[in-house]
Amino acid sequence: MKRLMLFAALSAVLIAAGCQNQQTSQNQDTNENKTVDKQTENQQAEQSQEEDTAAEDQTADTKPDQHQEEAEDVVGSIEKPVTVDNPDSIEVVVNKTRKFPDGWEPKDLVEPDVPFYFSEHLEKRKMRKEAAEALEELFAASQKDGMELVAASGYRSEERQKEIYENNVATQGQEETDKVSSRPGRSEHQTGLAIDLTSAEMALALEETFIDTDEGKWLAEHAHEYGYIIRYPEGKSDITGYSYEPWHIRYVGKDLAKQIYEEDTTLEEHFQMESDLKS
Ligand SMILES: [Zn+2]
Repeated sequence: MKRLMLFAALSAVLIAAGCQNQQTSQNQDTNENKTVDKQTENQQAEQSQEEDTAAEDQTADTKPDQHQEEAEDVVGSIEKPVTVDNPDSIEVVVNKTRKFPDGWEPKDLVEPDVPFYFSEHLEKRKMRKEAAEALEELFAASQKDGMELVAASGYRSEERQKEIYENNVATQGQEETDKVSSRPGRSEHQTGLAIDLTSAEMALALEETFIDTDEGKWLAEHAHEYGYIIRYPEGKSDITGYSYEPWHIRYVGKDLAKQIYEEDTTLEEHFQMESDLKS
């Protein structure tokens, strides 16, 4: 009974959490804008670097060059987030304390040819090209193994995130909203590299019990083979800022995904960007 209740409570939090409702509040935006902007000049360098990085070259240098700034500059805080200096990189780390430059959006969004639970051509159907192609491979392999994954939500613009966040603040208050959601400009879904997957067995819901289904297990075991990681693993919420989300995968390229899978780490741990993200 206790367990059931815990489950119910957990699920409720999770549904509210990172994926569906990740957002930001309007009043914080003012704070955010002030923060670190010095990295803009690095951006171009990063961009071209990122293009080369694509699939193979990444492992070669194990150290995250662009993340070598002082700890504080890299980690930030919820009230004083750092602006990432490599928004175009497939290795970009965005979280509750690391935000995109204002108004940033990916330039190579496409619609992956995989089953979504809706038929409209909505923004959330899109992903960055490289991630979309990898997702198609992932789906093909999963279908070969008899899995029936369904895509739920990919790219989300800063504007959309803002809308969702503001709605949440209006209904739950900012404190509660901040516990479970990221503020605008800090959603993983804005990368165009992240997507939520579910299945018919889950009745298309995004819940922790996904890991108990064949599809959830398959994803946990094989996502890295296609360059994806489980971005918010179990037991790492202090590091990632989010509860376990077995349905949320993030493209980082095959080499990095394999490393993170084998290390059993998170992006934050891998790049030594751990901060206090207890929510
Ligand atoms: Zn998600």
